Amino acid sequence: MAYYIRDTLGATPVLSARRPTINEFFLSCYTLSVYTGCEFGCPYCDSWIFQDRPLNEYVRVPLDLPQHLAAELEQVERGDLVAITALSDPYQPAEQTYRITRQALQVLADRRQPCLVLTKSVAVLEDKALLQRMNEQSLAVVMMTLVTADPHLSERLEGKAPPPALRLEALGELKRAGVPVGVALVPIMPYVTDRQTALRALLRACAEAGVDFVVWDYLHIPNERHRVRVNEILARVGTFPASYYRDLYQGQPVVNPLYRQELDAEILTRCDGLGLEVRAPHRLFAGRLSARNEAALLLKHAAFRDRVQGRTLMADTQRTLADQVYGGQIDQAALRETPLYPQLREVLGLGGADRSGG
Ligand code: SF4
Repeated sequence: MAYYIRDTLGATPVLSARRPTINEFFLSCYTLSVYTGCEFGCPYCDSWIFQDRPLNEYVRVPLDLPQHLAAELEQVERGDLVAITALSDPYQPAEQTYRITRQALQVLADRRQPCLVLTKSVAVLEDKALLQRMNEQSLAVVMMTLVTADPHLSERLEGKAPPPALRLEALGELKRAGVPVGVALVPIMPYVTDRQTALRALLRACAEAGVDFVVWDYLHIPNERHRVRVNEILARVGTFPASYYRDLYQGQPVVNPLYRQELDAEILTRCDGLGLEVRAPHRLFAGRLSARNEAALLLKHAAFRDRVQGRTLMADTQRTLADQVYGGQIDQAALRETPLYPQLREVLGLGGADRSGG
């Protein structure tokens, strides 16, 4: 068990700055981290590099976070989504005692602010009624992180988190309660979780659980300290060719683009075959975010599919347009370059003439 440090925030803001570009995975403009440190302590987690002490040794509990959040939300647009996704799990064991995540959700609910929660914990079910009400009033999405459907491998990669099947069951229960649910297949670890059979089983499990959508991303190795940690994980999960990661990452934090492109294409094809959406579908957020955010997400989601399917120029165009629209710059002549134009016109409420703002 971790040590809990009861603390106050002082002058530290609880919300991130507004993102320069909308987050297409989590639909978010702002990020909120409730606790600091994470008792689950998954060995692959990026958060290890931000901590001086082991990530799972101390958990800082910000007792005054709800008050700070309420004050900071005064400066946030109602149509901007806040994602509780960053650096520590909002439903780790500390939540059973302190309920800071629940209080933060209540603050968001009082203001009808759209939100998304990312967790590995089935304790999120304890807030099911609140999330249900939030989704009726504005938007509340719950996502679970899953790296594998294999309980034995999960135990070695994320031993303190609930088994994958339980996480999927929890999502099924939330969905039956009317809360939109998604799965973040993050991170895909080369050689460990990227085998065809493993991915097939994982995606099938998501489809059978009836989740609304999935997103995925690859293992990030931001520095040498994390590279050493990753090598330790690899040694623990089995034998692998020593040069494999060296070749795949070539000293960079992100995986080689060719590997990424090939695996993206394979996963996208599998998802299409299973009827699994690969980003939050429009029906979940239509009319529940600001028009600019909604349009930016439509563009980014289309750009992802275009990029993976080789329509690179269209992907680049749509990504640029997404950032412009998100930033309030709306140029109808430019928007006509995308096949989404009729839909964007409707979402943005555009008439014949160009305009700025959203
Ligand atoms: S639960 Fe999430 S935040 Fe916590 S250690 Fe695992 S990956 Fe990191």
